[in-house]
Amino acid sequence: MAAELRTISGDAGLLASGQLSAVELVKGYLERIDKREGEIGAFLALDREKVLAAAAAADSRRASGKALSRFDGVPVGIKDCIVAEGETASCASKILKPVISPFDATAVARLRAMGFIPFGRLNMDEFAMGSSCENSAFHKTANPRDVSRVPGGSSGGSAACVAAGFAPAALGSDTGGSIRQPAAFCGVVGLKPTYGRVSRYGLVAFASSLDQIGPLTNSVEDAGILLDSIAGRDPRDSTSLPAPAGGFAAAAQPRGSLKGVRIGLPKEYLDNPGIAPGVAKTLQDTIAKVRELGAETVEVSLPHTKYAVAVYYIVATAEASANLARFDGMRYGARIDGRDLADTYLKSRGQGFGAEVKRRILLGTYVLSSGYYDAYYLRAQKVRTLIRRDFDEAFKSCDVMMTPVTPDVAFKFGEKADPLQMYLSDIFTIALNLSGNCGISIPAGRDGVTGMPVGVQLLGNSLDEARLLGVASTLMKNL
Ligand code: GLN
Repeated sequence: MAAELRTISGDAGLLASGQLSAVELVKGYLERIDKREGEIGAFLALDREKVLAAAAAADSRRASGKALSRFDGVPVGIKDCIVAEGETASCASKILKPVISPFDATAVARLRAMGFIPFGRLNMDEFAMGSSCENSAFHKTANPRDVSRVPGGSSGGSAACVAAGFAPAALGSDTGGSIRQPAAFCGVVGLKPTYGRVSRYGLVAFASSLDQIGPLTNSVEDAGILLDSIAGRDPRDSTSLPAPAGGFAAAAQPRGSLKGVRIGLPKEYLDNPGIAPGVAKTLQDTIAKVRELGAETVEVSLPHTKYAVAVYYIVATAEASANLARFDGMRYGARIDGRDLADTYLKSRGQGFGAEVKRRILLGTYVLSSGYYDAYYLRAQKVRTLIRRDFDEAFKSCDVMMTPVTPDVAFKFGEKADPLQMYLSDIFTIALNLSGNCGISIPAGRDGVTGMPVGVQLLGNSLDEARLLGVASTLMKNL
């Protein structure tokens, strides 16, 4: 396992010392992919010639003293809903299968500007709707720690890619937990930045008021490195915010202790009877560890937590029903010709979308329809405000909060056949998207029964990633 654990900073060191060229580095990853991708299935596409050519270009820049940064030549996997020029952008959906993106998402363009190599297209739940990657229209992705289990979702391909050592890092997107939950299931680090921290330009929208792009990595420092690279104001996304230059990687260096840090323990999360014993034990051990490291723990309350899943499935589906309306075979997406225009729409959408996506579109259209709008959508928006205020209130008495990421470890394929059961795997991650704050999942232990990784979630105040990363890296180094 240790040999597989690769980091961006480690790879940058190998490149700087000349121990490896970028071509050799990329070839090493391709070899690992050749060995295990057959059983993992993390990628939807990977153009080997293209990534090797990009590595060769990085090598010649470095040789002439013109490296774009110390990361020039380091590969980063990209979730298939974050577009990259000349690459597929299917969102793991049949309806977008034929699409080749003519442009880069801002996050991808910023990675390229630093010399990172966008490394293939990673599998996901269709349109990022799901928690197991089982909703991909193309194939399943297995958890590299146990291939009979799911990698989580929707950024399951991204988490599996990093956990299997196919790349040192990947980008994912998080609308209700889709970075943090698969990170926990696969035993890697997953950061959801504050809403607005990273431009959403070129991220195929699921629920625009909740979506954020973020990194999946093997270290907290690497999460800081990638956040430095992709964060910041972008005129193409009016919700994006300016970022401090170069601040996150430095802040993500582990410190000697956690003295002076107040860690809030939200009682509604910790007292949940649905938490599996292995998850509860890891959490208790981690609480003991932060105290040992000098942090003060304080009980806090997020009283509207119990409404988070319900509110999310109204707000997210409402936004999804509007966002996905453009995929109709006319404006975007594969067209299946019918008798007339209406029939062509019906056939294209009927055959192009999978069952879960259709369920969400139906739900979202229903909650927005006249007569139900006030009862569902408007009410949900009001409760969303209460949830956001809970966080503001709790952060008055603590610096970061600590919670489980998921109620249980990665489950087996087919185990959660009932959609509601699947939705409940996000009970600890969803509120943070509704509030807009930042959060990180770090590997904190292993389940005694299954041996699967268990994550712990740290929640930060809005735009407080620097502090969140500092606490997370100090903790992770000591676990
Ligand atoms: N699992 C949640 C859902 O199905 C969250 C997905 C996400 O964050 N994209 O909607």
